[in-house]
Amino acid sequence: MKNSTPAFLQRRQHRKARHTAKRQAQRRAQRRAAAAEPSRGQAVLYELCKTIHHVFPNLFDQLRQVEDCRQKSDYTLVEILLAGIMLFVFQEGSRNALNNKRDEKKFRKHYECLFKLRLPHLDTVHRVLCRLPDTELEQLKHTLVKTLLEKKMLHKYRLFERWFVVAVDGTGVVSFSEQHCEHCLHRTSKTGKTTYFHPVLEAKLITASGLSISIATEWIANPDGEYDKQDCERKAFVRLAAQLKQQYPRLPICLTADGLYPYQGFFDICRQNGWAFILTFQDGNLPTVWQDVQGLLPRTPAQCQHQRRYHGSTVIDQTFRWLNHLDSGGHTLAWLECVEIVTPQKKGKPPQSRFVHLTNLTVTASTVRVLSRTGRLRWKIENEGFNTQKHLGYGLEHKYARVSWQAAKNYYQCLQIGHLINQLTILSTTFQVHLQDKKTCRHLWFCLVAFLLEGHLSQSPFDTLAQQRFQLRLL
Ligand SMILES: [Zn+2]
Repeated sequence: MKNSTPAFLQRRQHRKARHTAKRQAQRRAQRRAAAAEPSRGQAVLYELCKTIHHVFPNLFDQLRQVEDCRQKSDYTLVEILLAGIMLFVFQEGSRNALNNKRDEKKFRKHYECLFKLRLPHLDTVHRVLCRLPDTELEQLKHTLVKTLLEKKMLHKYRLFERWFVVAVDGTGVVSFSEQHCEHCLHRTSKTGKTTYFHPVLEAKLITASGLSISIATEWIANPDGEYDKQDCERKAFVRLAAQLKQQYPRLPICLTADGLYPYQGFFDICRQNGWAFILTFQDGNLPTVWQDVQGLLPRTPAQCQHQRRYHGSTVIDQTFRWLNHLDSGGHTLAWLECVEIVTPQKKGKPPQSRFVHLTNLTVTASTVRVLSRTGRLRWKIENEGFNTQKHLGYGLEHKYARVSWQAAKNYYQCLQIGHLINQLTILSTTFQVHLQDKKTCRHLWFCLVAFLLEGHLSQSPFDTLAQQRFQLRLL
């Protein structure tokens, strides 16, 4: 029978069929590509493992060197300590949370595939952390920081290509309504209620990009036996400084700290150790210095500089003033001030802000801005350091150990090591793609843990990580 469809219609139908087939092939290819592409959780896990393999390739060997305090055991000490650190790397927030994951067969299998180590129950980990001397994990943290310094990964952040900026500050960790141990600090409120607490003094290496790495820890805690006055931040600083000098004898350090620190004892310690400092200075602090500043400012109008910067539609006007050669008990200090006006004015912010610092570095027209900016970096220890550790998954204030003070200190060091690994991962250049579209780190870590629980781990990319050679670059 003769085909009655006109030729032009047949051609149109053929074209349409070809077009549909092409679209279908494209869609199939897209689906195949999407299936082959790692899930978000797997991609984040890969970045995390990459950081461990490439920045700390000897981590497991270093864990093996920790002296075992046990006589007999089912799990090796490496397995125990790695679980303690991973509790914080995975941002579990409590021992029970990680135990729940461990009960899931797939999670445990994935963990063992990745690290070639078993995941012990956290009660087993806890029993070891109750007995392990707290110096062991702190020493491990120092070893990891020294690795970063030896690899020169932090050198690009130095002030004037010389000084590593280290912020010093204290924060509360745990508090109790009953006396917890003989070293607790205690405070009685007006209503007669006594609280017992354990603050910590931290020295953290900070950078403008957002790193806040614990390089020394000193607990503010009362000594054994009788004492006149309770321990305090300034007394703890003397011990912290000794520890810093012992661990990093030749490291050029520039300390930044709040208004508690401009005092003679602090200046003496910095001079003895060859450290620079930039401290927050409150009007009226150190009365002789403050009088000199007020007397000299009207006579040095030339030591002033204006700067205008634009951030999108925001205009930032800054006025800097400075004075050198101020004397405080034989120490030569410099004073610098930055008055900042942001237009349009931000909601809830004052029309202008004033930042005043004292330093033992010389201030000039070419250095005043960077010195002021570095002094203001001190906030990093509170934001990127303490706040992240308290509120963004690490549970700094959670009572990981209610009874054993020794265990609590060991958990604290595990937290610092876990947070260090995560920070290096998040701030590596290759990780930035995952932060697009307003993705938060907290969300990405949820994806990571969800992948360990339910995903399908393809072993090969993880197995070849150790053999690959590339450098991890930080923002
Ligand atoms: Zn206590």
